[in-house]
Amino acid sequence: MKLRSVRGTHDIFGKEIDKFNLISNIVSRNAALKNFKEIQTPIFEFSNLFAKPLGEQSDVVLKEMYSFQDRNNDFLTLRPEYTTPMIRAAITNNLLNELPLKIFGIGPMFRRERPQKGRYRQFNQINFETLGTNNFLADVELISLSKNILKELLPKSKLKLHINSLGDKNNLIEYKKNLTKYFNEHKKKLSEESIKKIDTNPLRILDSKNEEDIVISQSSPKIYEYLSNDAKKDYEDLKRSLNLLEINFQEDPNLVRGLDYYCNTVFEYKSDNLGSQDTLLGGGRYDGLIKVLGGPDIPGIGWAAGIERITLLMDFEKKIGSTVHIALTNEKFTDYFLYLQKYLSEKRISYYWNYKYNLKKSFTKANTSFASYIIIIGENEFKGKFFTVKNLKTGEQKELELENISNHLNDKFK
Ligand code: AMP
Repeated sequence: MKLRSVRGTHDIFGKEIDKFNLISNIVSRNAALKNFKEIQTPIFEFSNLFAKPLGEQSDVVLKEMYSFQDRNNDFLTLRPEYTTPMIRAAITNNLLNELPLKIFGIGPMFRRERPQKGRYRQFNQINFETLGTNNFLADVELISLSKNILKELLPKSKLKLHINSLGDKNNLIEYKKNLTKYFNEHKKKLSEESIKKIDTNPLRILDSKNEEDIVISQSSPKIYEYLSNDAKKDYEDLKRSLNLLEINFQEDPNLVRGLDYYCNTVFEYKSDNLGSQDTLLGGGRYDGLIKVLGGPDIPGIGWAAGIERITLLMDFEKKIGSTVHIALTNEKFTDYFLYLQKYLSEKRISYYWNYKYNLKKSFTKANTSFASYIIIIGENEFKGKFFTVKNLKTGEQKELELENISNHLNDKFK
């Protein structure tokens, strides 16, 4: 059998891993600024953690979970999303004693979707959650945090923030009833896929990408008409605060999000440059979820962003490497080279040698790696007890004794 990776998975290396690491650093720094604490959970959980909270009729649960029975016949699932595992971890580790709990995590998720650009079966997400407050300022904090992170990562991208309110659970039940009625009246014009959702998951018809569905949805009842006074006030407060913070947004009454647990505020950041998989980041409130999972009856809100989709939009300039290349011209100078290696390691200077005793090949490699320096070890250097250090950007070349190399590089490395 030909060696291959599993469809919908991908290896991360080269420029992409550099981007991943940069994203991770920027996320951690922004998290620390707002006092979110990192948490890592296992990539698999008991299957029943997901089915009910995400919605028995959601696409994820119906079609996309990687579930299996292990040797003890336990039903396990590779996590398709991070909110429920994070809440599980908060409950089982007694982290909900002091509220609010502000946590974040970065890691792989698994969904058996049809792979395409920006859509994988194993992909990586950044997740932020605030548990234990229904103050709308928590919504504002999470949205502004997401904006800060995306802005730092994608300073040139035009991203659009869509927001909506789904109201509380009762508003939503009433709204769904009316949506089902409306879509039943227009059943003939809906797509096959949407007809199946009329009774089970009518909200999802609103974010269908089918053109006829879009036309029908345009005149459908709007959630805003069903919001309670409290939900309306929170939504108005949220919009006012976003304006105050100069965070641009557009209201999108058809924004519903895919999973069952959402209520009140929902939001998404989208880009015009990602094709059909255009949502970079999505989130919202899930006020009943923690109780459903067996925890206290406290509210929560969070968001998730796809790292692969962010990397697709990231500009990454070729960076001048801060690694010194070594050119060793002959095996005879191995011991002399070892002195240099020991010295560079002690000074914590990164170096690279290609295991070839060949000046020309070392120079070629240094140039293609955008190295800024090369240190040459040949007959003259060995006999004269010095090293030739060449600056590849300026062409300047110096003969230096071992103990002077670090200062010389440090002065000019930056
Ligand atoms: P969701 O949990 O579906 O709201 O997803 C949150 C974010 O994760 C999305 O906005 C995407 O950026 C990313 N994402 C979701 N599914 C995938 C996937 N199959 N492949 C890559 N990224 C994904």
